[in-house]
Amino acid sequence: MFDKLTQALSNTFRSLRSRGHITEEDVDRAMREIRLSLLEADVNFKVARDFADRVKARCIGEKVLEGIRPADQIAKATYDELREFLGRDRHDFAVDSPPARVLLLGLHGNGKTTTAAKLARAWKAQGKNVLLAACDIRRPAAVEQLQILGREIGVDVLAPEPGEDVPALGARALAAARAGMRDIVLFDTAGRFQIDEPLVEELRQLSAAVTPQNTVLVVDAALGQEAVDVARKFHEALPLTGLVLTKLDGDARGGAALSIAHEIGCPILRVGTGEKLGDLEPFHPDRMASRILGMGDVVSLVEKVQSTMDEKTLREMGEKLAAPQGPKGLTLEDFLSQMKQVKKIGSLGKILEMLPCVPSIPQEEREKMEKEGAQKMKKSEAIIQSMTPGERRKPEILNASRRKRIARGAGVEVSDVNELVRGFRQAKQMAAMLGKRKGRMRGMFGPGR
Ligand code: GDP
Ligand code: MG
Repeated sequence: MFDKLTQALSNTFRSLRSRGHITEEDVDRAMREIRLSLLEADVNFKVARDFADRVKARCIGEKVLEGIRPADQIAKATYDELREFLGRDRHDFAVDSPPARVLLLGLHGNGKTTTAAKLARAWKAQGKNVLLAACDIRRPAAVEQLQILGREIGVDVLAPEPGEDVPALGARALAAARAGMRDIVLFDTAGRFQIDEPLVEELRQLSAAVTPQNTVLVVDAALGQEAVDVARKFHEALPLTGLVLTKLDGDARGGAALSIAHEIGCPILRVGTGEKLGDLEPFHPDRMASRILGMGDVVSLVEKVQSTMDEKTLREMGEKLAAPQGPKGLTLEDFLSQMKQVKKIGSLGKILEMLPCVPSIPQEEREKMEKEGAQKMKKSEAIIQSMTPGERRKPEILNASRRKRIARGAGVEVSDVNELVRGFRQAKQMAAMLGKRKGRMRGMFGPGR
């Protein structure tokens, strides 16, 4: 979503860096470029101007640091301001006092029902006992949609009874949550194409009936500046405690995501990054800022890897690395299971996007890399699968005739087998090196995180 903006900003900083000495004129030019980049990303022009002014004020106010290039200092000031704009600190839902009530509001089609299911799924994975209340009674299909999602994630859904109105349904859901010792009850509400008085009235009544600690607007980031206006209207009607921005995976220009927290004055709690139920991420203003500036987001990549690898594999890997024989214990079987883990993390493209410097790779190139990566992974899997267990554990025994047999079995060339074995040997050496720094490795792979 921020590809273009990132590209533009990194160009600005690259040209600044190429100068040994920076004049005030250079700074002004950089600020102008930043302002234009923001406008291009669909940020409101007043906001964009304000942003550039603030960055400049920061630059002027700051002492020149010895040993740091002025361009980097300006980049840092931009980062700080961007982080401020995005909301500065991380915020979360208030779900500690059971039953915690979460009211999701928003316009039709902005992703309320999907987000309700995504949240329920994530909370359930944290061991919370969740109830979903289908308070969109206007469309029969809406209740059914939530019921289907509820079944998929194994979370109970409370549906309306004939003739029941929304506040009554809400009250009944809350009573059921109390009786069932639920930790969280999530109210999925109806939306309309526009915010209007009957909708607001219904939401007010529901809110009065369930007194939610969380009144959260779900809003489609692709609406751009309009998303900000929608949020403002909802916030006036019913004070919001937070926002969920959906469809950040789309090709919209991201202006809403950039400025909504700043303009509405309430934090972004989560972002939706796809249609799948796992595609919901916490929002870290600092990481988002560094991602937008093209500094990459290695931290969230690591977290994603950690949450996707299942506990058991992590434990086993940790044990293996901590074993007396150390990383030497690694076998091609482990290699295969690690490969499968990587596959689970999701598309290689998504991973690439999070790494530094990658946004400058054109979309096409990235798709090509992704395709080649997937092919290679498939090939490696086939090769390892056509080995005997003995060979997987002790690749040293792979002589020429064994390699030929394996290649035939996997439908690949002997050179492919050689390449894999070589790659494995390198991985093992690397693991051995890392293994020496045991304390750190435990931090990465151990169960303590
Ligand atoms: P509601 O009317 O607000 O309840 O919206 P829904 O939850 O029914 O979602 C409307 C459409 O948006 C559905 O097709 C969802 O799959 C899709 N959707 C929701 N969140 C996301 C997201 O983060 N990314 C993408 N690509 N699609 C989403
Ligand atoms: Mg819905």
